[in-house]
Amino acid sequence: MADIQRTLVLLKPDALQRDLLGDIISRFERKGLKIAGLKLFQLSDEQLNVHYAHLSEKGFFADLKKFMMHTPVVGMVLEGIEAVAEVRKIVGSTNPREADAGTIRADFSMNVSSNLVHASDSVENAEAEVKRFFADDQIFAYQKITDQYIFG
Ligand code: UDP
Ligand code: MG
Repeated sequence: MADIQRTLVLLKPDALQRDLLGDIISRFERKGLKIAGLKLFQLSDEQLNVHYAHLSEKGFFADLKKFMMHTPVVGMVLEGIEAVAEVRKIVGSTNPREADAGTIRADFSMNVSSNLVHASDSVENAEAEVKRFFADDQIFAYQKITDQYIFG
């Protein structure tokens, strides 16, 4: 049985500023990931304290939060077979100059502080992060005519 998962993606303010929202969303669509949730919204300091708690001791923490709040972000819930790992693969390594060519971060960015995309890094975190940013009624389960070709 295919392991269908949901994962959380944020298109960061640099993606919005650089008019890359469509190109980035398109990469996930082309893979066959299903958009279960999608919205433009403003992150709060409180949300970022939780979301980036693992980085709270870092010198760049305040700048990271400021960066993430300087425009709205696009939030997405993506669904697919082993979606958590597949989305991380498409996004690429945290440092865009170390990311594999063909990944979003390698192809469109150069600097770790402006690497365009957040993606959940484990199944456990994905579940918590989807809940953190999306209410139940903002997530949709629906059939697509292409499901049979993509999910097999
Ligand atoms: N970050 C940064 N400088 C660093 C490490 C991380 O600005 O030296 C930022 C970067 O935007 C990264 C985010 O903090 O995407 C979260 O870091 P994490 O280690 O969770 O990487 P990710 O899961 O985003 O690949
Ligand atoms: Mg992370």
